[in-house]
Amino acid sequence: TPRPLIAGNWKMNGLAASLDEARAVAAALDAHPVGARVALCPPATLVERMAQVLAGTGVAIGGQDCRAEAGGAFTGDISAEMLAEAGASLVILGHSERRAGHGETDSDVAAKVAGALRAGLEPIVCVGETLEQRQAGQALAVVTGQLRGSLPAALADADFAVAYEPVWAIGSGLTPSLAEIEEVHVAARATLVELFGAAGARVPILYGGSVKPSNARDILAVKDVGGALVGGASLKAADFLGIINAA
Ligand code: 13P
Repeated sequence: TPRPLIAGNWKMNGLAASLDEARAVAAALDAHPVGARVALCPPATLVERMAQVLAGTGVAIGGQDCRAEAGGAFTGDISAEMLAEAGASLVILGHSERRAGHGETDSDVAAKVAGALRAGLEPIVCVGETLEQRQAGQALAVVTGQLRGSLPAALADADFAVAYEPVWAIGSGLTPSLAEIEEVHVAARATLVELFGAAGARVPILYGGSVKPSNARDILAVKDVGGALVGGASLKAADFLGIINAA
């Protein structure tokens, strides 16, 4: 099994002063190396500076979204090539805040994944059910359906990760039970193996949604949980390090 991946998603938070938090994470990992892979995904405006600040440390940099095309007349958008040139090695795609707030469909996400691969970025592809869908007993069907629609066949030869982020657990302080997390991750694993064979058995499946230092150890020990995608608790070095050290 690959090393767990602990990725921080800063969302639309962070100005230049926040780079001190990233510096503190890198310094702590330098002093006390960990087994996990660690990444931070700042807003696009900070990708290049954070990549410079963290160059040579154990912390990789990711974008939070990209457009599928490499370039063109797409005002306000950025491409995977631009993120890569700025120093990113990963990119979060299909986050529920993009799916809900920007109308991204599974096929939009699949096109963005192809763009990321073209630029040499490792995609972290997000899926997850809403509360209504969970209450209707549809969580597994929604997640496996999003995976089928969002993961292009080209991923068979690429490094990528999946993140299961139940929409109702994001920023709410609520999390599924460990049994519920396991049920979804095992179903996601089966879908990945169906789609990609042996390679699908090694894809890290991150859990995201109200991960914090106090629940990280239990969540990260669940079968088929291969890391965490952390929002709010990635903004402060002490919290993020607490999660990293639980992996
Ligand atoms: P929180 O950790 O703030 O719940 O956010 C999770 C998330 O959406 C990470 O992408």
